[in-house]
This record gives sequence, C-alpha cells and structure tokens, in this order.
Amino acid sequence: MASRESDHKLNIRDRVEGQPTSDASLIVPAPSLIGLSPEALQDAVGSLGVAEKSRRMRARQLWNWFYARGAHDFDEMTSISKDLRSELAANFSMARPKIVDTQISNDGTRKWLLQLAPHVEVEAVYIPESDRGTLCISSQVGCTLNCSFCHTGTQPWVRNLSAAEIVGQILVARDELEEWPTPNQPAPARRITNVVMMGMGEPLFNFDNVRDALLLAADGEGIALGKRRVTLSTSGVVPMMKRAGDEIGCMLAISLHAVNDDLRDELVPINRKYPLAELLDACRNYPGVSNARRITFEYVMLKGVNDSKADAKALVQLIKGIPAKINLIPFNPWPDSPYECSDWDQIESFGDIVNRAGYASPIRTPRGRDIDAACGQLKSASRKKRASELRRDAEQREKNKN
Ligand code: SAH
Ligand code: SF4
Repeated sequence: MASRESDHKLNIRDRVEGQPTSDASLIVPAPSLIGLSPEALQDAVGSLGVAEKSRRMRARQLWNWFYARGAHDFDEMTSISKDLRSELAANFSMARPKIVDTQISNDGTRKWLLQLAPHVEVEAVYIPESDRGTLCISSQVGCTLNCSFCHTGTQPWVRNLSAAEIVGQILVARDELEEWPTPNQPAPARRITNVVMMGMGEPLFNFDNVRDALLLAADGEGIALGKRRVTLSTSGVVPMMKRAGDEIGCMLAISLHAVNDDLRDELVPINRKYPLAELLDACRNYPGVSNARRITFEYVMLKGVNDSKADAKALVQLIKGIPAKINLIPFNPWPDSPYECSDWDQIESFGDIVNRAGYASPIRTPRGRDIDAACGQLKSASRKKRASELRRDAEQREKNKN
C-alpha cells in the first residue's frame, strides 16, 4: 500500500522540478478512477488515507456512482462525505472522453468522435436493431497491423487506450442515449445491450486495459451487460487468446477472412506469424467454448478474392468441430481501397453453403452507411472530412488572395 501511495502521489499533477507552474504542458493529468479494478479502486481510496476497514465500502460506493448511476462529478456523490469528495476531486479524475462530433444516420445509427487528449481521437458507434442495441468501441488509436482491406490499417498507430478511455466510450454512449436511472423514476430500458470491441485497433495488443474495461462492462454491479453480451474481436493474436478466455471470459470473434494461408497472409498479415492451423487450434481450445458459447468467425466479402463457392466449402471444412457462427460482412469500401464488395447474390450463395453445413451465417446488414459508421472503418470519415475541409479552406484562402 505504501509504495502505491507514493507512486500515486508522484503522478498527481506534479510539476517537473524547477519548472514554472504556469506552463500547462508540464502538468500531468490526474489519474483516472474510471476503469480501475475493484482492488485498484480500493488502493486508490487508501492512498487518500481512508482507513483499511472502510476502503472496500468506499470503493463500492464509487463503483456504483460511476457505473450504475452515471455520475459526472465527485460532487454528485451524496453518500460520500464532503471532505472525501474534495480529496478525491483534488487527486483523481473521473472525466469522460469529450464528444467533438456526433453523426446520426437515417437508420438510427449514431457515431461519436471522441477526443481523449489534444489531437488524440477515436470513434464509437451505436447500432440499434429491433432486438438489441450494439455499441462498437475502440481499443487503440490506429493499429499496428496492416490488413489490406481495412482503413484503420492504413492510418498510423498512435497509442493504446487506457482502461478509463475504453470504459469512457461506454459511459459517453450511455449519457447520449439517456440510459442512466434518474431519481424516483423507474430505470429506463436498456438501449445498449451489447458491446463489441470491433472499432479501431487490435485489442489483444492492449490486453490489460481491454481486460479491465471489458470485465467492468460485464460486471453485474458495473455496467452489467454480462459476459455473453461482450465480444472481443481479434485478427488472430494466438498467444493471447487463452488469456482472453481465462481472464475476461467474453465472447470471441475472429477476423478470419480467408481459408488458406497464402490469401490470409495477404489480407491479414499477422497470419504470417500465427498461421491458420495455429489460429484454429487456439479457437478449439478457447476456454469455455461450447454450443452455447460459440466463436464468431468474421468473413469480409471481397469480390473475386475470397467469395467463391469453393471458398465457402473450404471454410466449412476448416472450422469443423468448432462451435461457431459465421458473420458475413459486406466489404465497406474506402477511398482508393484495393477491393470491391462481392455481389449480393454471391454473398447469399456463399452463406447458403455455410448454412447448409449447419452454421448460422448471417449477412451483416450495412448500417449507418450515410455516416460511414461500419465497425472496422472508424475514424476514417472524420479524417476524410478534415482533409477535405482543409483543402476547401486552402482554396478559399487562394480565392481571397486573388
Ligand atoms: N482489430 C480487430 C478488431 C477491429 S476490426 C480485428 O481485426 O478483429 C473489426 C472488424 O471489422 C474485423 O473483422 C475487420 O476485419 C472488419 N473490417 C475492417 N475493415 C473493414 C471493411 N473495410 N469492410 C468490412 N469490414 C471491415
Ligand atoms: Fe487492425 Fe483489425 Fe484493421 Fe487488421 S482489421 S488493420 S487488426 S483494426
């Protein structure tokens, strides 16, 4: 505890020794309490001098304010003494990512551009359907992998998201969807019923933060979705898959996209490191996999590349014995992307073959196309928009000069 306390104190808005206080760039932001595990939250409370016997209770109160009641400010926490509230506010943050742009599609899909720090932005997307509402969130800013059909892969990798920033995406979405209970009112119906980590980044390259955030999303006293409504999608970071099953226990989705190593090496280059046979073995051994907890294989439909009937038959052979469902994803093109989406008939006949072999094979309906809101495509639109805005500004400046 003592060492945590001093670590923590070092972090608290300390100035760099000998530097003037007025230079904001030297101020380290207060550490966030959002996204901490229950144990880490108790330690943080302990670092403020709260007696050991009360830490658990205080941490539970905070947890409830953060995740069940949606508090934005320590001051709202009326069950906590004023003194402790001001100590908390002086030493810690509970800030959410800032919304810098909102787009709402005519099909109800919503996309938020969220600022985490100056010039550091990610997107989160909410997709309402008749029987569920899915929130798609990001784990990294950019991605180090270069899947050839994915726009995120063409953007530079910036950094991992903290657990606070991952959970923060869910909190912001709940704010915007007005999902928090209000005093003396019955709790509003859930609008976010599922969370999928299918936004920007490879979650298994940011394991600890993703684990802490997803555990919290599932936790009955946290965001309370349950583990079966939380899905992590990976391009196939084989050595981390067992840990994902053991330590998170969420549903697993695999970005498969090809049924032989040659093609998958090209589409999903991490395949060169962890080829199909290893990936499928890791799926067979995924902790907790069963008919009730199937693995989802994502398969992006690329015209003339991976969409033949022979590919569909090979897919069925490849996943034999794995309790699975196949999500067929119409390719979502981006400017200068080297692929086209398969024709609808082709997608349907591919799906029929997989379906006849006994696997559910829903075709993911394109959602929010008018706002570029597909998972795996996040952030691209805002960048495009800004690039074109910059061009327009430059043109306007030229015109003004003349
Ligand atoms: N990095 C993780 C999770 C983020 S990508 C992963 O690769 O699984 C989420 C999903 O969107 C993946 O299945 C990805 O392959 C898919 N995707 C990426 N770009 C796409 C595009 N342009 N059209 C359709 N799906 C795409
Ligand atoms: Fe990264 Fe996933 Fe895109 Fe591949 S598909 S580049 S792993 S975000």
